[in-house]
Amino acid sequence: MTGGHHCRSASPSEPEVPPGHGAQRPTPIICRDMPDLGEFELIERFFTRPARRATLGVGDDCALLQPTPGTTLAVSTDMLIEGRHFLSTVPPDRLAHKALAVNLSDLAACGARPVAFTLALALPRADEAFLAAFARGLFALADREACELIGGDTTRGPLAVCITVFGELPPGAALLRSGARPGDDLYVSGILGDARLALEAFRGQVTLDADAFAQVRRAMELPSPRTALGVRLRGVATSAIDVSDGLTGDLGHLLRQSGVGAVIDIDALPRSAVLAAQPGELQRECLLAGGDDYELVFTALPSRRDAVTAAAASAGVAVRRVGKIEAGAGLRLVDRGGEDVASQFGSFDHFRA
Ligand code: ADP
Ligand code: MG
Repeated sequence: MTGGHHCRSASPSEPEVPPGHGAQRPTPIICRDMPDLGEFELIERFFTRPARRATLGVGDDCALLQPTPGTTLAVSTDMLIEGRHFLSTVPPDRLAHKALAVNLSDLAACGARPVAFTLALALPRADEAFLAAFARGLFALADREACELIGGDTTRGPLAVCITVFGELPPGAALLRSGARPGDDLYVSGILGDARLALEAFRGQVTLDADAFAQVRRAMELPSPRTALGVRLRGVATSAIDVSDGLTGDLGHLLRQSGVGAVIDIDALPRSAVLAAQPGELQRECLLAGGDDYELVFTALPSRRDAVTAAAASAGVAVRRVGKIEAGAGLRLVDRGGEDVASQFGSFDHFRA
């Protein structure tokens, strides 16, 4: 083996922590003076736990999972690549959290209850400290969501995390992008824009004080998947999508697939006090085109407003009515007074960016 004592060095193009936040910069993640673990020892030590709900978990050629009789299986995959989806500054426990959270967010958008997941992991080297922290972050969220790790694949390579989640829901109950109809109310959960504000701070485009930076950084690195809300919106929402690539883009998918348009009051979009303290243009960019929010955008009949409020209350998640579905196509943005607001904000597209 060569290079056993080398640290992976930061590339010059890597975003830096903004000035004044040096103390928050974690040490490089793949750097340890110890021989690599073997692949199977690694899986055994960090990713094998007794199967609970699964009939058979990690360790054989396949995992075995017995779906609850009469349920539909919901399946989703998301891949996170270093430099593309996360910065090298992310601590390993938060990386693991985020990799699972973004997948759970897709289950949430469909109204599925999480059951199990698989983990495909590429690592530059088998670093024990990295793996211990990664596993801690992973299982903390997995346990909270009652979502069991049942298998995966582990290989050496540039740092990448690919998770596939499995969820359950009653047949015909899935919330789809295609169900919105003219006259429906349009809602957003939680707050939007903080993750994008964090990215701007990492890029040095915005200067935040230490508390504000820590808050938006949490939003970027530790998103809360809205699984409880998604489940409670079954039979209440007419359509839903989760916001991963920015509100306008993701809502655009929902509108196209429903064959409708929408109007949004941008002054009604929920935002943190930290974002609300930023210049108006930056607020709009973060709210409309931000990305990495992992909130739910959904529609419901005006006659179901009480049911939406009850679903949000029992899920413990704030929900805000921000607009309406209209006949026609496209998204109109208006301000509090109903005046049209022009927007140049598109969403994130990996092959256009
Ligand atoms: P195979 O060669 O049959 O594909 P592997 O040797 O890749 O199996 O993996 C051995 C076992 O460990 C399998 O049960 C697989 O699902 C599991 N596994 C591999 N990597 C991971 C991981 N990162 N997390 C959880 N389970 C894993
Ligand atoms: Mg394999």
